[in-house]
Amino acid sequence: MAYLDHAATTPIVPAATAALTKELGELGNPSSLHAAGRRARRVVEESREVIAAAFGARPSEVVFTGGGTEADNLAVKGLYWNRQEQRPRPRILASSVEHHAVLDPVRWLADAQGADVVWLDVDEMGRVDPQQVHDEIARDPESVALVTVMWANNEVGTVQPIRECVQAAKPFGVPVHSDAVQAAGHLDVDFAASELDALTISAHKLGGPLGVGALLLGRSVTPTPLVHGGGQERDVRSGTLDTPSIVGFATATAEAIETRPQRIEAVAALRNELIAGVISEVPDATLNGDPRLDVAHRLPGNAHMSFPGCEGDSLLLLLDARGVHCSTGSACSAGVAEPSHVLIAMGSTAAEARSSLRFSLGHTSTRADVDELVAAIGPVVQRARAARSTASATSTAHQR
Ligand code: PLP
Repeated sequence: MAYLDHAATTPIVPAATAALTKELGELGNPSSLHAAGRRARRVVEESREVIAAAFGARPSEVVFTGGGTEADNLAVKGLYWNRQEQRPRPRILASSVEHHAVLDPVRWLADAQGADVVWLDVDEMGRVDPQQVHDEIARDPESVALVTVMWANNEVGTVQPIRECVQAAKPFGVPVHSDAVQAAGHLDVDFAASELDALTISAHKLGGPLGVGALLLGRSVTPTPLVHGGGQERDVRSGTLDTPSIVGFATATAEAIETRPQRIEAVAALRNELIAGVISEVPDATLNGDPRLDVAHRLPGNAHMSFPGCEGDSLLLLLDARGVHCSTGSACSAGVAEPSHVLIAMGSTAAEARSSLRFSLGHTSTRADVDELVAAIGPVVQRARAARSTASATSTAHQR
């Protein structure tokens, strides 16, 4: 099997499995005051310190959540609601290439709560323009509740000019959130240096367990909670903390940061071979996103490619039958027949958007994975094209 879908989820690292498994055998609610509770609390707080140090945050700025989607919802809805407290601020500035974990809460706020959304344009590489962030806020600063721009795109791997976006919003005092789920552990994500107000991370994208993440949250930022209850996590996210997952998350984070320089270089080199190999087999295949392959512009493990005359879904299934796992975009929107909103925002036609696949590499990727894909892609594209022309000939015959 060649697993080329690390952006959907990457294998948990053995050290995280060991830490998580050990903790599963322990007893204690971190909120309990007795010795068993205090032991669990110690594990949580040590984990919090590791994660904070890894991402340039203070321990008190780490709010644990049940994953990236929850952290994104807490940031978007929580900040929006909190910002309505003094006066109505209906506007949300959001990039048009956000993951559904941001896109859908923003749309929900518009549909259900009257928010007025400014979808920030992107260029053909998928990059937001910080000048647009500035100009949109300057038009009516008091009306803006928040800005949300992802750190790096999950489909095409484009890295956003986050610092510049924050600098554009800062003079107006508008809070800025960034979904760094795809970037954390792979790029240099530093919360303090970024000057962001809120930043989302998720454990399973950096070698930790599924179902745990965090929102890094500046001390002066107080989103209205989505979940009310026991008042854990600064009263922002109630619920008994999942100590095993949290220690697994911290262990994976420490390892991701320690191995990052060598891993990134190796992963990017394999990714570059993959792109060259695919193009040598399918000369009219094209790379989407930023053609600059360095980490300042593109996620090191990302190769997002279009195959003219093919349906991405057919390619995915044909590759799957040969043991090659990849994606047509974000796994979370798989099964939805619409073309990717990311590629459409970048100026692709619906047909171009539908003809694309995302290959994403990570810490367990090998040359053999790339070789398997390169061996399979030529015949698979031929079959997908033949199937498509047979289907269109049949439909023309029916129309006659
Ligand atoms: N944001 C981005 C950019 C993602 O890629 C994903 C997962 O695909 C998420 C958010 C959701 O994170 P989680 O799977 O932890 O809920």
